[in-house]
Amino acid sequence: MPYVIAAPCIADFACVDICPVNCIAPRPNDDSFDDAEQLYIDPDVCISCGACVDVCPVLAIYESRDLPEKWRHYAEINRDYFWVLEQGPA
Ligand code: SF4
Ligand code: SF4
Repeated sequence: MPYVIAAPCIADFACVDICPVNCIAPRPNDDSFDDAEQLYIDPDVCISCGACVDVCPVLAIYESRDLPEKWRHYAEINRDYFWVLEQGPA
């Protein structure tokens, strides 16, 4: 099960460089950075290694099946972020 970033994310980028498959976005130099309210994990690329969890200072990262009930919809929010990027500009 992929990991998911939920509401507590403060976008401090602590998790970005620890990810071995570079599936956490956006980075500050990405086009989509200005519009992002938090960071997101691409569920199609995440290898569920869990390395990002320990570096997050606000406990924002969960394996999708362990998401607290109030943040269950963040699995879809994370997936949708990358889906929209793939579609490109309207
Ligand atoms: S669980 Fe591993 S692969 Fe998935 S986002 Fe975190 S560091 Fe990257
Ligand atoms: S480490 Fe946690 S708070 Fe920081 S960007 Fe990643 S998910 Fe967000």
